[in-house]
Amino acid sequence: RKEELKSFLYVESKTQDEKRIKLFANVAHIEEIDAALKNGAEGIGLFRTEFLFMDRSQPPSEDEQFEVYKSVLEKMEGRPVIIRTLDAGGDKNISYLNIDKEENPFLGYRAIRFCLGNKELFKIQLRALLRASIYGNLKIMFPMITSSDEVYKAKLIIQEAEKELKKQGIDYSQNIEIGIMIETPSAAVISDILAKEVDFFSIGTNDLIQYTLAIDRTNDKVSYLYNPLHPAVLRLIKMTVENAHKNGIEVGVCGEIASNPEIVSVLIGLGVDELSVNPSKILSVKKKILQMKCEEEKRRAEDLLSWQ
Ligand code: PEP
Ligand code: MG
Repeated sequence: RKEELKSFLYVESKTQDEKRIKLFANVAHIEEIDAALKNGAEGIGLFRTEFLFMDRSQPPSEDEQFEVYKSVLEKMEGRPVIIRTLDAGGDKNISYLNIDKEENPFLGYRAIRFCLGNKELFKIQLRALLRASIYGNLKIMFPMITSSDEVYKAKLIIQEAEKELKKQGIDYSQNIEIGIMIETPSAAVISDILAKEVDFFSIGTNDLIQYTLAIDRTNDKVSYLYNPLHPAVLRLIKMTVENAHKNGIEVGVCGEIASNPEIVSVLIGLGVDELSVNPSKILSVKKKILQMKCEEEKRRAEDLLSWQ
């Protein structure tokens, strides 16, 4: 079976009726980049930077972050690399950041909220990303967006970081795409507005399902309700894809369901352009894509939107 999957390595990822689906990898550590490449990743769809900040007693310095981002970009040799800014809080506790204990951490001081409240820490990460940008095809992505105001504020801080670098005579790429995760129901519902503010969307279904269905993704007692095919979830994905395409931007999915063989076809039926999965899942997802017909999946997805 492994041999069979390997035979798909150099086959272009597209459905039988020629719909191209980009296959990217989710990674959290630089060591995983080799696995992504070995499995034929066309890019990195989600580089989770939290892990750079974990298991230590203080945040990584700008130079330390720069070295990591630079090596990721170099290893990917010009392929797109979406690096997500710090997604602290929620289930990702980083002790030295001193986030107060909260009753509802998933509804609390998390991700972009934390970064906008800790501007200096955020700016150090953005400066490191900008400096690394000349070594490859970097795209910057913000997590947990719920409003266009957050996008606006985050972009302002990027501009500040750019100004600082310019003043210091430090080089950075002029055409870095900025994207956001669509992982809250509010972001999906206003995706028509958000699509005008950014260059791409990536749907984070792990959180989108949690927030839409009101099910803590870490609570085993309610995990039986965690249904990726719930029509509420599918409608939000469909809405997001339609609004993105109307505004000429692409949509990926980087949540765990992107590698679930039953669900890949539904996501493609809903029109997503890219799937980002664990490196070890890339070839099995490609196999699935090669077997399906996009037009058929569209009809099936349409049925699922009003079925439970
Ligand atoms: C998601 O929410 O789907 C996602 C990819 O982000 P994380 O799992 O890191 O919250
Ligand atoms: Mg998430």
